[in-house]
Amino acid sequence: MVNEKMYELGAKKSTIRAIFEYGRKRAAEVGEENIFDFSLGNPNVPAPDFIKEAVIDIMNELPPQAIHSYTIAPGNPQVRETLAADINRRFGTHFTMNNLFMTSGAAASITICFKALAERDDEFVIAAPFFPEYRPFVESTGARLVVVPAQPVDFQINFDLFEKALTPHTKGVIVNSPNNPSGAVYSEETIKRLASLLTRKEKEYGHPIFIISDEPYREIAYEGCEVPYIPLYYRNTLVCYSYSKSFSLPGERIGYIVVPSEVTDFAKLYPAIAGAARVLTHVNAPSLWQLVVARCAGKPSDIEPYRTNGEMLYKGLIEAGFTCVRPQGAFYLFPKCLEDDDYAFCERAKKYDLLIVPGTDFGCPGYFRASYCINRDTIRRSLPLFKKLADEYKK
Ligand code: PLP
Repeated sequence: MVNEKMYELGAKKSTIRAIFEYGRKRAAEVGEENIFDFSLGNPNVPAPDFIKEAVIDIMNELPPQAIHSYTIAPGNPQVRETLAADINRRFGTHFTMNNLFMTSGAAASITICFKALAERDDEFVIAAPFFPEYRPFVESTGARLVVVPAQPVDFQINFDLFEKALTPHTKGVIVNSPNNPSGAVYSEETIKRLASLLTRKEKEYGHPIFIISDEPYREIAYEGCEVPYIPLYYRNTLVCYSYSKSFSLPGERIGYIVVPSEVTDFAKLYPAIAGAARVLTHVNAPSLWQLVVARCAGKPSDIEPYRTNGEMLYKGLIEAGFTCVRPQGAFYLFPKCLEDDDYAFCERAKKYDLLIVPGTDFGCPGYFRASYCINRDTIRRSLPLFKKLADEYKK
């Protein structure tokens, strides 16, 4: 009667959601202050004041039709021109409005890219650990997600394994840096190696391989961590950006795709992006929010709270005896569990009302994700509990 795959996706909760809901139930039983919920990636830094000011100014200055009407499918031309100019100023690129397609956030952007590119038997490759939604997004187009095992020392790319995963069916490679869940930022060296490998493989297979760069965390990168702008290194790159994290606007659904003019067959690819957006009903990203982000282009993101939280949690976990890559960006830590079975470990952590997510859900068994975009006091009070949990394994 219904599509079984859709039923399954809608009826089955993600592990993250299930843990979050468990936390809500426990909070009702034992009190909010006794729950240490590291499950969700919902930014806890409020949207900056300049967002509120922009919304008020737009509402006061423009007539309703200019705010609430349909825009053309790729988005308001002036907005796209303003955002392109801001990207050019930051990265020395030469984009115009014709390279930008406004979307309702990163999830929409990447889904549109998969849909625009995927043909029969195509494959999209991702190095673990990775954002679990990539799988349903890719599979909904009929393509296959190919997962390359993680390189846990630093969560950069294991190129030996990566090369083995590429085949003549490879249509694209997904890059997500700063990364959810590892918190790692791909170095310039990693991006250069990836670009050179893909360029070689494009020649060998005789067709383009696209990098789909999923960048909702671009602005959340800490000292000493430059996030390379991939179109500067690799021609066939599509950039998927979102304001959900940088301006703390996840509920407003606003972002864009950059399709550089240099990509192979731009004249067909940009319309294919428009076509995919059309069937996925992602044309005309929210009009008011297009205007807001254009007014706020180039304004800074407040990442200091995340940096401080990340350092506090990192130091606490290291002192408790965990091993973990130091936070470089985004707002997640991805430490090693103290037993092989990450599900058993996360279940055991619940004894202390520490709610953490098993790494298996991110394609990386034996690890757990702790999201630190939460109240700092919760992190501070959780540290002795992580210590108690770790001590159980020393006995
Ligand atoms: N990509 C990654 C890696 C994410 O972590 C998220 C959200 O957590 C998204 C995409 C979706 O972002 P958006 O809210 O912009 O759709």
